[in-house]
Amino acid sequence: MTEIERIGQLRQALHQHNYNYYVLNAPEISDFEFDALMHELQELEKRHPECRDENSPTMRVGSDISQDFVQVAHKYPMLSLANTYSESEVADFYNRVRKALNEDFELCCELKYDGTSISLTYRDGKFVQAVTRGDGVKGDDVTNNVKTIQSIPLVLHGNDYPKEFEIRGEILMPWDVFEALNREREEQEEPLFANPRNAASGTLKLQNSATVASRKLDAYLYYLLGDHLPHDGHYENLKEAEKWGFKVSHVARKCRNLQEVYDFISYWDTERKNLPVATDGIVLKVNSMRQQRLLGYTAKTPRWAIAYKFQAERALTRLHSVSFQVGRTGAVTPVANLEPVQLSGTVVKRASLHNADIIKKLDLHIGDMVYVEKGGEIIPKITGVDKSSRLASNKEVEFATTCPECGATLVRYEGEAASYCPNESHCPPQIKGKIEHFISRKAMNIDNVGPETVDLFYQLGLIHDAADLYQLTVDDIKGLDRMGEKSAENIINGIQRSKQVPYERVVFALGIRFVGETVAKTVAKAFPSIDELAQASLDALLHTDEIGAKIAESIMRYFADEKNRQLVERLKKAGLQMKAAPKSENEYTEKLKGQTIVISGVFAKHSREEYKEIIEKNGGKNAGSISSKTSFILAGSNMGPSKLEKARKLGVRIMDEDDFLKLLE
Ligand code: AMP
Ligand code: ZN
Repeated sequence: MTEIERIGQLRQALHQHNYNYYVLNAPEISDFEFDALMHELQELEKRHPECRDENSPTMRVGSDISQDFVQVAHKYPMLSLANTYSESEVADFYNRVRKALNEDFELCCELKYDGTSISLTYRDGKFVQAVTRGDGVKGDDVTNNVKTIQSIPLVLHGNDYPKEFEIRGEILMPWDVFEALNREREEQEEPLFANPRNAASGTLKLQNSATVASRKLDAYLYYLLGDHLPHDGHYENLKEAEKWGFKVSHVARKCRNLQEVYDFISYWDTERKNLPVATDGIVLKVNSMRQQRLLGYTAKTPRWAIAYKFQAERALTRLHSVSFQVGRTGAVTPVANLEPVQLSGTVVKRASLHNADIIKKLDLHIGDMVYVEKGGEIIPKITGVDKSSRLASNKEVEFATTCPECGATLVRYEGEAASYCPNESHCPPQIKGKIEHFISRKAMNIDNVGPETVDLFYQLGLIHDAADLYQLTVDDIKGLDRMGEKSAENIINGIQRSKQVPYERVVFALGIRFVGETVAKTVAKAFPSIDELAQASLDALLHTDEIGAKIAESIMRYFADEKNRQLVERLKKAGLQMKAAPKSENEYTEKLKGQTIVISGVFAKHSREEYKEIIEKNGGKNAGSISSKTSFILAGSNMGPSKLEKARKLGVRIMDEDDFLKLLE
C-alpha cells in the first residue's frame, strides 16, 4: 500500500470509529488505538500536503487562528415555531390542520431540544457548510467550529443520499459538560453561563475553533430539506439520515390522533429530566412533506408545525434575608436566603440575585413571598414577587455599601453591574481567594495544598500572599493541625516544584482580573517576560490579538499598583519562571539521541504538543504506539489502560514528566 492509499484508509477508519463512539456510543477500539491511528494520519498528511482534505478527521481538532464569521444567506429561511402552552392549544392546532388539509394526516412528535439551531449543507456526501439561524434569512458561517463537533459526520455513510441537501438540527452542550465548564469558570471567577443553551450558542460563536473543540458540544439533527429527498415522510427521511451517519433522536414518534400526542407529552414532561441534554418542550410536525407544502407558512412560522412548551417549575416561598459574599477579585455577590422549599426534586434554600440592578428591578423587600424557578439554571433564581401578600413592615432590600468581611466601602466600576470591595490587600476572602487561585491546578498546580490548608496558614499568620508560600519551611508547618513530617515535606516539595511551572501559567496564577487561562497564554506570547508585560503601554496591549480594552485596562491597573509590583518582585526572587522558556535550537541537547519515546496521558507542565517538540529538539523520536523499539513512555495522568498493559507486557519503562524534565536539565 502506498502512503497515499494509507491516508485514504486511515481517514475512512477514523470516520467510522468516531461514529461508533459519538453517535452509536459503541466504540470498537480503545482511545489509545484511536490516538495512534490519528497520529499516524497526521504524520502522513504532513508529508503529503497535496492530499489536503477539508473533511479529514484531523480537521476536527480546530485551530488557534481566530476567524471572523462571514454572513451567508439561507437557501430556505430558518423560521421559528409557534408556541403553545396547553393541551387545548394543541387541539386547536390539530383541528386547524385537519380542516385545512381535509384528509388524513400523521403528526411526528419530537423533543424540542434547547440549544442553538444550525443548518448543515452536504454535497456529494461531504459536509460543506454550517450556518447559524441568524435573523432567519441570513446567518453566520460557523463551518470550522461545527467541524469540531464529533457527532456531526464530515463524510456520509453509504451512497444513497441526495447529491445535495440541507439538514437542520440543534447544537447542544450536555448537562455534564455544562456543569464542568461552569465549575471551572466559577473557580476563575469568570461569569457563569446561565444555561446550556447560552453556553452552546456562546461556544459556537467563539473565534478560536480549538477552544470550541475543547467544549465537547453535541448535536441532534431533526429536519431534512432538499429537492430529492428519499421519502415524502419527514420521519422516514430522518430514519434515512440516521443511516447516512447523522445523530437523530430516537424518541420521535408518529401519532395518528390527539390522545397519542397527549400521551407523548405527558410521558416526556417527566422523563426528559433523565436526558443528558436540555429540552424545553415538544415539537409537533405534520409528517408528510407534501402536506407540509400544502399548509405553507405564515410570515414567521410554518403552519405545519407547533411547539408545546413545558412549564418551568416554580415555587412560592419567603425571602428571609439577603447576604453578601466576597470573592477572590473582591466582587460582591448578593444571595437570597429563603424559607426552604421543594423545587424540581431538590430543596431550595438559597437563590442567586446577581447584582444590585436585579434586586432593584424585582423591587425586593425582606419578608416578601417570592417566586423561585430552576429552569435550565444551575442556581435557582427569583423571578418575581407576590406583592399582594407584602406587609407594610417589609423593608426594601438594600445592597451592601460596605464589605461584610472587612468593612471597606464598596465601589462600582463604570459600566459594570457588580460591586467590588477595593481592599485587596486586607480583605480576608480576597487574600485567601488569590492564594487559592495561585496554587490551583491550572495555575501553579501545587498539590497537597487545598483551601483548608491555605485557610490554616493564613489564620496562623504564616502567609499573607502567594510569595509567602516560598518562604515556608518544613519546620514552620509540621505539627500544625496534626500534620506529620511527611505531609509537611510533601507540601514544601510541591511548593518548590512549582518554580518550574512555565511563565504563561505564572501570568495566569497572578490572578489579574479578566486574565483567564487562554488570555494569559496570549499575553505571555506577546510579552515574553514579566518585565515587558509590566511596562507594556496601553497601546501595545490593545494591539495584541484578542486583547480588548477591558483586559488591557485591567493589566494596566494591576501593574500600576505598587503592592502588585512588589509581589511580582518577590516571586521573581523566589525563583519562579518570569520569562518564556527559550526556544532557540542551541538551547537543546542531544540527550535523547537514538531514543524512541511514546507520549501518553495528560500533563501539567507542558502540553503534549510541547513535549513532542521537546523530544524532537533534543534528538529523540516521538512514536505513536508502543513496541519493542520504544525506549520509554512519557506518561502523564490518565494513561489509557491498554497502553499500560502493553507497556507492562513489553517491559517498557514509564517515566513521569518531572523525571523526564530532570533528564534534560
Ligand atoms: P423557538 O426558538 O422557541 O421559536 O423555537 C424554534 C426552535 O426550536 C427552532 O429554531 C429549533 O432551534 C428548536 N428546535 C429544537 N428541537 C426541535 C425539533 N425537534 N424540531 C424543530 N425545531 C426544534
Ligand atoms: Zn472586603
